[in-house]
Amino acid sequence: MYTHVLGLPRIGAQRELKKAIEAYWKGNISLEQLEQTGKNIRQQNLYLQKEMNFDFITVGDFSYYDQVLDMSMTLGAIPKRFQTSSTKSEMDTYFAMARGTQNAKAMEMTKWFDTNYHYIVPEFYKGQQFSLNSNKIIVELKEAKNSGFANLKPILIGPLTYLYLGKSQDKNFDKWSLIDPIIDIYIELLIKISPYCEWIQIDEPILVLNLPSKIKELFIKAYKKIKKHLPSNNKILLATYFEDILDNKDTVLSLPIDGLHLDLIRGKKQLNYLHEFKNTFLSLGIINGRNIWKANLNKILDDIKNILSSKSLDIERIMLSTSCSLLHVPIDLEYEKKLSLELKSWMSFAKQKCEELKILKQALEGKDVSKILEENQKTIDSRQKSTLRTITNIQDKLSQINTKMFQRQSSYKERNKKQRSILNLPLFPTTTIGSFPQTPEIRKTRLLYKKGELNEQEYKQKIKKFIDEVIQRQEELGLDVFVHGEPERNDMVEYFGQQLKGYCSTENGWVQSYGTRCVKPPIIYGDIERPSPMTIEWITYAQSKTTKPVKGMLTGPITMLCWSFVRDDQPRKDTAFQLALAIREEVKDLEKANIKVIQIDEPALREGLPLKQNKWSEYLSWAINAFKLATSGVKDETQIHTHMCYSDFEDIIEWIAKMDADVISIEASRSKMELLEVFKEFNYPNEIGPGIYDIHSPRVPSIEEIKELLELALKVIPKEKLWVNPDCGLKTREWPETLASLKNMVSAAKMLREKY
Ligand code: GLN
Ligand code: ZN
Repeated sequence: MYTHVLGLPRIGAQRELKKAIEAYWKGNISLEQLEQTGKNIRQQNLYLQKEMNFDFITVGDFSYYDQVLDMSMTLGAIPKRFQTSSTKSEMDTYFAMARGTQNAKAMEMTKWFDTNYHYIVPEFYKGQQFSLNSNKIIVELKEAKNSGFANLKPILIGPLTYLYLGKSQDKNFDKWSLIDPIIDIYIELLIKISPYCEWIQIDEPILVLNLPSKIKELFIKAYKKIKKHLPSNNKILLATYFEDILDNKDTVLSLPIDGLHLDLIRGKKQLNYLHEFKNTFLSLGIINGRNIWKANLNKILDDIKNILSSKSLDIERIMLSTSCSLLHVPIDLEYEKKLSLELKSWMSFAKQKCEELKILKQALEGKDVSKILEENQKTIDSRQKSTLRTITNIQDKLSQINTKMFQRQSSYKERNKKQRSILNLPLFPTTTIGSFPQTPEIRKTRLLYKKGELNEQEYKQKIKKFIDEVIQRQEELGLDVFVHGEPERNDMVEYFGQQLKGYCSTENGWVQSYGTRCVKPPIIYGDIERPSPMTIEWITYAQSKTTKPVKGMLTGPITMLCWSFVRDDQPRKDTAFQLALAIREEVKDLEKANIKVIQIDEPALREGLPLKQNKWSEYLSWAINAFKLATSGVKDETQIHTHMCYSDFEDIIEWIAKMDADVISIEASRSKMELLEVFKEFNYPNEIGPGIYDIHSPRVPSIEEIKELLELALKVIPKEKLWVNPDCGLKTREWPETLASLKNMVSAAKMLREKY
């Protein structure tokens, strides 16, 4: 029996990589210094795996930004606009592709399956040439070998998944026609990798999706060709995760692979079919890579023993692993000093999950680990019995929910009339999505307060000063609907998590979201309740400083759910409804406090979609109801906004319409307003604010360019329904570019008002 992981977190235990990259971008450290930080992190991960006695040492899971972008670099899939300046280092080209430059727009970014990790979308062009362009994986293999590590197992994103995730940039061009040239480069690469290892892990997570037969056929063709050219001493471990592969079982069975990794947490059903894969090595993903709960080791051991005997599997050909890469969980629980000991004892982060694997293997090999197993059982039992998890009247509250609570009082048309007369907005109203730059001063203020070096009153005064500034700047810019800027929030989910019962947060539980952006998902361990108002003081303060409407700003129940680690002891739906009830109370309180516009962000709605399409409608019906439960408790006059980014609405537009938000703002600039087409086709009834510039890049859009995008939007959206706003919140930006961009945005809106 062997143990290994599908990948480890790579941001560093104290986010060293994030800090180094950002310092490099600012010119504060050299390329060599950055590379040294990268190397240190890789070394730490190698030593961790050694300490855990893993039989295979994973290499190649490291990345300076994103593993899909790494593959684009490796294959030489560098869009022309980034090939111009010959003076750029490979690293600078790489970062330019991810973030854009003043002259070249960043590549698109989107969510990795149903996670909150974002990858950079490969771009495909007609006649595109590929070439082996980066040595990253070889460098990392050499480095590991030179440090004395053996049994290296490099990992690569598979060619089919790579192509699937990319987007054709030329109209009517079938990206799949590029499969042959891409496979050729993969083969060249695999031959180079070959001398360093026996096993090569190739990730093909798209095998858990419902694939058209054309792609299934390509799978077989591609892997046959790879197998033919791969030196015979090498073995391929095909890795799948996030769901079961049962829809593609026959395809997988006909692939010439040596090992198969299955996610047995999300894809439990696969347990019944394991014997069919008997002629390959089986890597069993039995430690959950998507949550932070301690594994029930005794139960897993029983399960494994059961599987082995009932399916008569050969233990010599079994690998134990995490369900997916540990990229999606925080690094080490030991850094949590403030968490209550009881809660902490229920949890397990990446390092602890590796330890769980180690113990499982020892137990299965007959080593005496009974003490550890007993200890594990104790905490599992204590969690089951703990009263920390339950609020007594929550079940009553849930049972009192009725369908009326999912509906606004009147139709959108009626509401719109009333809202118009109250708000009195011009054509093409301008607004922003919520946050303004989180300056070092703001961060410092929150930190000092957290440390107790500022008392509550001092803290509030400072935050209010930031709000004053933000209001002032919005007045100067001439925006129409204001925001308070969210200076009190470290994160849109954690902020609310800290104020709701049933939630706890971590000090250092960072998880990579995209590039250098990390989030610290809070943890839902019990029933949710709102002990007191969460945002009223800030919003009403901001409103008191201006005659323009200030948007109340909340995070929706589904985003709270998706961006938290959730309890695994009740259905997600129940947790979503508990969250919705708490938010509903806040929405009502905002209305009572005379706030006329309230935005409830749901950027994670789409990412929450099950990977299998036949489970969509079940999810969407409760998810949309949760949103409506949160937002429908107000009068017609109160304008409800929602915001979603990185969403493709194509096949869920009817559900988006059912949300019945008065205004929805979406991310649209990176796709050149293409995302709007479906709103037109569906005849989407309410108002829309398609984002007119990409906030992930420091690039300042010109007035011309914004006008052009708005004109494109006007082809699709009636003029009285069009709002003007950026793609998302501005918290990651700096003030100079923010002011310049918004100034251009307001000018473009004004020019358009004259024209229409
Ligand atoms: N209101 C949030 C902000 O502006 C929305 C963030 C998001 O959609 N991810 O920061
Ligand atoms: Zn957003």
